[in-house]
Amino acid sequence: MSVQKDRVMAVSEWEERWQTGRIGFHNFHVHKMLQKCIDRVLCGRSGVRFFFPLCGKAVDMKWLADMGHSVVGVEISEMAIKQFFEDHNMTYTEETVPAIPEGKLFKSSDGKISLYQCSLYDFSSSVAGQFGGIWDRGSLVAINPCDRERYASILLSLMDKDCRYLLDTLLYNPELFGGPPFAVSDEDIRTLFGSACEVQLLVSQDAFEEKHKTWGLDYLTEKVHLLTLKSN
Ligand code: SAH
Repeated sequence: MSVQKDRVMAVSEWEERWQTGRIGFHNFHVHKMLQKCIDRVLCGRSGVRFFFPLCGKAVDMKWLADMGHSVVGVEISEMAIKQFFEDHNMTYTEETVPAIPEGKLFKSSDGKISLYQCSLYDFSSSVAGQFGGIWDRGSLVAINPCDRERYASILLSLMDKDCRYLLDTLLYNPELFGGPPFAVSDEDIRTLFGSACEVQLLVSQDAFEEKHKTWGLDYLTEKVHLLTLKSN
């Protein structure tokens, strides 16, 4: 962690990645971990309001909406949001957001998917309420390590009492690769969320692929934790 602590990626660098198509983080299929763990998130509930922090154009949003849930995402890149709707041949509306002067809301015509184009740090429960489910993939691992506490307090404030927050993280030797994605340890998760949440490890799996060799890594473990508010 020490070597990654001070690394900062500017918002403009993310936008540049979208503009130049360097979006290796994007999955064309529904994420395996979400599929594997969805029953633990839903717990039999239907019509859950899901939050996707740093949503990119994750196809998981469409998957959940097709199952009858609703989705709110936050993404800084307008290009990513437009590509999401275009990739799925969905029509959408575009409106301003009084609470976020710099931001915009893109909403699918059926109203099930609302994507806010703004920084997560300008988003709060006063914009779109609280949520019953959160899918955090490529999000806690993508933000700058120095912003983690701010990030955690926003995510906690977006959790409804019955919220089930599924958190996907990557563990590797941070001495070998600068990130993003940044390495997140179990201890980091407990430090950030442990006082407010019960933290349960659902999956820990070797996720080392060819591309990780080019990052200089020797191992990579993917972990999925389920966070629920302690007061429940
Ligand atoms: N969760 C998505 C995208 C992961 S990449 C997926 O799994 O595919 C991280 C995304 O966060 C990028 O699309 C980037 O444009 C966006 N992003 C980075 N910083 C942000 C911020 N402060 N607020 C909102 N979005 C941000």
